[in-house]
Amino acid sequence: MSTLRLEGVSKHYGPAKAVDRASFSTPSGKLVVLLGPSGCGKSTTLRMIAGLDTPSEGRILIDGFDVTGIAPAERRISMVFQSYALFPHLNVRENILFGVKVRKEPAADYDKRLTRVADLLGLSALLDRKPSQLSGGQQQRVALGRAIIAETKVCLMDEPLSNLDAQLRQEMRREIRTLQLKLGITMVYVTHDQTEAMSMADQVVLLNAGHIEQDAPPADLYARPASVFAARFIGTPPMNIVVVPGRPDLKLGVRPEHVRFVKSGGLPAVVQSAEYLGADTIVTCAAGGDTIAARVAGRQELREGAGVRLGWTPEDSHTFDAATGRRRDDIVPVPV
Ligand code: ADP
Repeated sequence: MSTLRLEGVSKHYGPAKAVDRASFSTPSGKLVVLLGPSGCGKSTTLRMIAGLDTPSEGRILIDGFDVTGIAPAERRISMVFQSYALFPHLNVRENILFGVKVRKEPAADYDKRLTRVADLLGLSALLDRKPSQLSGGQQQRVALGRAIIAETKVCLMDEPLSNLDAQLRQEMRREIRTLQLKLGITMVYVTHDQTEAMSMADQVVLLNAGHIEQDAPPADLYARPASVFAARFIGTPPMNIVVVPGRPDLKLGVRPEHVRFVKSGGLPAVVQSAEYLGADTIVTCAAGGDTIAARVAGRQELREGAGVRLGWTPEDSHTFDAATGRRRDDIVPVPV
């Protein structure tokens, strides 16, 4: 069981800051997700933790020890990449044991460790197969097996599921989370997929253009986004951000699932489109100069151009500074 901590870690490429003074920690046995759009610095951060890139400034600590200048192999970290990086000419058994053998760990307990990992991952019957004889999900499990058998202090995963189809992704993310909890692995997991982050993480570190936008448990990220960026990154469709009458210095945020159609009062709006999704319908409306999406249960037969009234409760609204985009908790929202 190990803790990982980053203190003011940056990576500069010339004048560009791929990562800008990032500080966060991963407590022992917890899963931290680095989340953000493409190019925000997730992989660079992970590579610095692994020792594959050197920070321009800042420190990386494992169990309180500064490992910033230490070689990757000595950090006792395992890593699972997007491309599984399996050896095509080795079978499953050899692929899983490869790192253990390279590190010349005691051969006596190879079998015991292999049996345990293969059982955990449902690979026992496939040990003699080559990667080309496995499905995408099975190859992913072999890559996981190689990371788990290393019994390292920290396990890093860089978009490990992005090559899988939607259904398999869902299964595998449940599987990884179950394993991580069962084995008490300290894990840093990179993804651009907010659903993956929300469903797997103990803590989400949301990155935006190299800096940490918010570092919070999934429920807090949803309920109290620290900025307009965070508010719109989590949730589909994203949170509506609209003007506040008479307050050009503020913006108001409300999630589509919190917008209701009301009979009287509320905000007059005109339906632009209705997208039926089965369990619910996303109704997009124009209100003043803003576009507001509402997620309503069931099938809504609303024609384009229909007049509606939209309402939401003050508890479901969020206030942001119009200039900085940061959350403002000092403003009491008025009912709509
Ligand atoms: P992410 O993993 O979130 O997609 P990356 O960490 O790969 O983002 O990249 C962050 C930023 O750093 C991007 O703007 C990328 O173009 C830049 N970058 C990454 N590696 C290098 C490099 N070797 N040289 C120059 N710029 C780089």
